[in-house]
Amino acid sequence: MRRALTAAIAALTLTAAGTTVTGAPGQAAPAGWGRPQPAAATPTPGSPGLGDSYFPDYGNGGYDVGHYDIRLRYEPATDRLTGTTTILATAIKDLSRFNLDFVLAVESVRVNGWVATYTRAGDHELVITPARPLTKGQQLTVVVKYAGVPSQTTVQGYTAWTRTADGALAVNEPESAWWWYPSNDHPKDKATWDISVSVPTGVEVISNGVQPRDPLPEAGNRTRWSWRSVKPGATYQAFLAIGQYDIVTDVAPNGQPVVNAYSTTLGERLPAARASIERTAEIVDWESGLFGPYPFEAQGGVAGPVDGIGFALETQTRPVYGPGFWRRGANPYVVVHENAHQWFGDSVSVADWRHIWLNEGFASYAEWLWSEEQGEGTAQELFDFTYDSYPADSEFWQVRPGDPGPSGIFDDAVYDRGAMALHQIRLAVGDAAFFRILRTWTAKRQYANGTVAQFQALAERISGRDLDAVFTTWLFTPGRPDVTAAARTTAAPAQPASWTRIRAAHDLLGR
Ligand SMILES: [Zn+2]
Repeated sequence: MRRALTAAIAALTLTAAGTTVTGAPGQAAPAGWGRPQPAAATPTPGSPGLGDSYFPDYGNGGYDVGHYDIRLRYEPATDRLTGTTTILATAIKDLSRFNLDFVLAVESVRVNGWVATYTRAGDHELVITPARPLTKGQQLTVVVKYAGVPSQTTVQGYTAWTRTADGALAVNEPESAWWWYPSNDHPKDKATWDISVSVPTGVEVISNGVQPRDPLPEAGNRTRWSWRSVKPGATYQAFLAIGQYDIVTDVAPNGQPVVNAYSTTLGERLPAARASIERTAEIVDWESGLFGPYPFEAQGGVAGPVDGIGFALETQTRPVYGPGFWRRGANPYVVVHENAHQWFGDSVSVADWRHIWLNEGFASYAEWLWSEEQGEGTAQELFDFTYDSYPADSEFWQVRPGDPGPSGIFDDAVYDRGAMALHQIRLAVGDAAFFRILRTWTAKRQYANGTVAQFQALAERISGRDLDAVFTTWLFTPGRPDVTAAARTTAAPAQPASWTRIRAAHDLLGR
């Protein structure tokens, strides 16, 4: 959920296509054979991006993915990953070629069984020319075979893949998939996943969703782990945690499977990790009461290794947490945050990365609601204390959470001022309307996408109020907004009991 690549990438323009790699000549389609080409329709290339306002070349145009079958083999000793990903998609226009986002070395591509040619473009584009043009509405089966060392495959000197002493983590935002499966890498194209990974026996593999079968022994003292996600998700929501883990399974109050996993490297941090992550089912149950029914098929959390990631990510059905959250004892606030994302970010995803407040503002506000629930400080007290913690001349107030810029999507302001904005909306509409707005938002846009303007329109419709001043002031105007004395509890609020844990979590989540 943070990185240095985004800023550099945003400034990038696509370069011309690179070297052409051709499939075995004998297997290519004979020219002019088997090509139904209506005279009127001239197939054209799919666009190399979806026109995201921050990352215009992320994702691709011309097709829509329904499912990824990701079948991998991984060697922890060398970080070598080999894979075959089968993509089920539909052409949404007549296509002469189309792109996938991917950076590992590709060995072959087939489209509907036919060998396809492919080239590289930009820094992460795989440009695929099928043997036969594709027609609008046509079902596509794209099979990509590949291999590489993801930790040594860099874009602008960066890799989103984290190699650890005992395995690896594929956990990142907004880039993650490029290093382990070819995809249409933008939240607007959601799909389901089957993910299976063969590793040396004794190594664990944790991923999203449920295990459709027990780990299966394979030749050569290996074991294949399988995971399945049956609800559509954004590409960056898919994850891998490979290494030495203790897995704890249970059943949640709503009957769903809970799978938690703890790196065996955690040492003295393990009890704090367990005392936080083992509350996942309780927290999801509480959040379901506020935000509507839990949108996915399984629950859980992964406590990553000490040499892994320095943040946490709301990976679908099962967030992954870096070890820093357990440094000073248990911290359920980060568990509240990442699981609130299951509604705000995962089920309802940004339609464009500029709308990141819909993810981070809401997940951060969930922490204030949990504090209120636990008697550790009300949302109002947290608003007052957070507001006072940033002096009026702080750079913090110059970032607009509603449009923070490509290098600012994980700025502290998106989290803290983002939560303050939601509190102001709550004050403007009252509690009953506020929580009805949240539940309607998650219900109407389940497994889909949203924009800040769409959220404002919904909030105005449900509350019957013009909220333009609140949205403009708190999300789109640089500078510290004035808060009247009437909108504060006291002039100098005491530090809420939850403050240090919320602050500790945000120090690792934002930047
Ligand atoms: Zn977050």
